[in-house]
Amino acid sequence: MSKVPELFGSMVFNDTVMKERLPKDTYKALKKTVQDGKTLDITVANVVANAMKDWALEKGVTHFTHWFQPMTGVTAEKHDSFLSPNGSEGTVIMEFSGKELIKGEPDASSFPSGGLRATFEARGYTAWDPTSYAFIKEGVLCIPTAFCSYGGEALDKKTPLLRSMEVVNTQALRILRLFGNTDVKRVITTVGPEQEYFLVDREQFKKRKDLVYTGRTLFGAKPPKGQELEDHYFGSIKPRVHAYMKDLDEELWKLGIQAKTEHNEVAPAQHELAPIFANTNIATDHNQLTMEMMQKVALRHGLACILHEKPFAGVNGSGKHNNWSISTNTGVNLLEPGKSPHDNAQFLLFLCAVIKAVDEHQDLLRISVASAGNDHRLGANEAPPAIVSMFLGDELTEILESIENGSSYDEKEKSEMVIGVDVLPHFPKDTTDRNRTSPFAFTGNKFEFRMLGSTVSIAGPNIVLNTIIADALDQFASRLETASDFKTEINAIIKETLKKHKRIIFNGNNYSDEWVQEAQKRGLLNLKSTADALPLFVSDKNIKLFTKHHIFTETEMRSRCEILLENYCKVLNIEALTMLDMVKKQILPAAYSYIKDVGETASAAKALSADIPCESETKLICKLSTLCGCLSKKAEVLDKALVDAKNEESDMVRCAHYYRDTVFAAMQELRVVADEIETLVGEKYWPYPTYGELLFGV
Ligand code: ADP
Ligand code: MG
Repeated sequence: MSKVPELFGSMVFNDTVMKERLPKDTYKALKKTVQDGKTLDITVANVVANAMKDWALEKGVTHFTHWFQPMTGVTAEKHDSFLSPNGSEGTVIMEFSGKELIKGEPDASSFPSGGLRATFEARGYTAWDPTSYAFIKEGVLCIPTAFCSYGGEALDKKTPLLRSMEVVNTQALRILRLFGNTDVKRVITTVGPEQEYFLVDREQFKKRKDLVYTGRTLFGAKPPKGQELEDHYFGSIKPRVHAYMKDLDEELWKLGIQAKTEHNEVAPAQHELAPIFANTNIATDHNQLTMEMMQKVALRHGLACILHEKPFAGVNGSGKHNNWSISTNTGVNLLEPGKSPHDNAQFLLFLCAVIKAVDEHQDLLRISVASAGNDHRLGANEAPPAIVSMFLGDELTEILESIENGSSYDEKEKSEMVIGVDVLPHFPKDTTDRNRTSPFAFTGNKFEFRMLGSTVSIAGPNIVLNTIIADALDQFASRLETASDFKTEINAIIKETLKKHKRIIFNGNNYSDEWVQEAQKRGLLNLKSTADALPLFVSDKNIKLFTKHHIFTETEMRSRCEILLENYCKVLNIEALTMLDMVKKQILPAAYSYIKDVGETASAAKALSADIPCESETKLICKLSTLCGCLSKKAEVLDKALVDAKNEESDMVRCAHYYRDTVFAAMQELRVVADEIETLVGEKYWPYPTYGELLFGV
């Protein structure tokens, strides 16, 4: 373990390496480019590329790739070697030019574009993102890049994320300047994503078509034991899992990812990994890499890492907690309640921006976590409901209420309190009783957005968070910049925000039925499924918001909406087809051969003596045969539902609703019957590993 500091970041072309290997001028020029967000001069790029190549060659690397994040939700890469012919002598040299570093032209035609390619140039290009370090993964030099069409439309998740970080920077700086803060040069958002996952035996995983094709089990009777004893959560880690985690940590550390805590989660075979937080752009790259390495390292240990939101019915699914805050380049966390009233006025203003943003854009936060997989979790009493609300804790809520009502909080007596930069209550340090049921919880100096599913790229939710908060800050700044009296205006803004948006604050149990009723009374949105949520992405309000801040163009938004809706339908389609395949090729044949053997057993007994009753055999055969008949009928219904789906494909919104209401409903019904059959058929007849074997097999 003493080698960890040496190991850490050893595969990253980071600041230390750059300082070491780049000429001073080049290093300075590159730093300046990164800070100012300018494009890089080609002569500088040539020098950087050459240094990168030399560094990579020393580590045995022969190939490079532009590494990007298309709308598929996973990362993409296309490897090229450094090889270059050397004159006519048939020899080669290893080369990597500035041009190759800065720009790539992958064939974009097979990535989802939601119709963008019809309107724009078919080809796309990748452009180096120098704010995220290049790294070596599996012997390949990876250059983090943004992916755009030739018309400049974003085809990926990084481009809008970078745009949203710029907007937060601009708007937050305006506020800080108003508070007389001149030393801050840049404001960034920070994220620490906690990642949940399941580990099962690889051989068993491979035996299940549903896991292989869809990442989740589509059938499976409940085993006698699930998570009811609560003995897995934070339990001691099994040796095989421990070896996996150790190996994973080392791989992540090499990539400069600060994997920090790992523990068992609530469900059997479920675990969690949390890194130390980082700048949102880097945290997003790192989370994508983490998910990839989790799966790759699992292979080495004979394990399969399942990242799906709901791999097993009956036990908890997996989420991703997006811990989010805003920080200055001088290291000040702007969501940290300050020690002095002056600091607190600034803190309160940022807090109010979050309150306003979350209330005004509940729909966007919900949309940002919508997926077929996450539909199984949200609102299912294991994850937050589909209703967005905020937890602030009793203390902070009480302070805010006293401000709103103009009563004193400190003295608890009725005296007018002036909210300005001079008089504000002293905030007690994080005494919040962590509310585990809240979708968006203040946890002392950051917000924890808990609605994310385990597979989602955190880019989407953070694009939304950054943009909506920047928009609120923008509105506040505009008012304050033109106010005749700064203190009075802050007072007014805070009071108004609380009056108008306090409905979003809820400190109680988000899992309760009462909350659903109460939320409805408060007029909060309850977008139950992906099909309900996604279409709202392109509402007038949202188009206005994103185009105003240049995060998305309207075309980009419409294309994204289309891609996501289509993806939702495709996922359900694959799941339904897999179910039908398993029913016809595995479940029914297994039941039939069991029926046959039981029937032969009964016949043999009867042949021995007509007095042998064979009652249980007859009953079992009768029951199984009836269930098989029922299963066949339900399979026919699902079959037909899929055929009819073709009629809906011209309108993606209608198609998504159809898949949810008709296809998904038919899948549920099919599953119930198959699971009952599983409980009746002899173990050795069952064609694939059961829940018990999968969940307790490692
Ligand atoms: P918990 O008690 O929920 O485990 P931790 O304080 O350990 O809370 O933090 C959980 C995650 O939040 C970690 O990934 C951590 O790095 C991250 N985190 C902490 N502070 C911040 C911050 N200012 N901005 C973003 N993420 C943060
Ligand atoms: Mg957490």
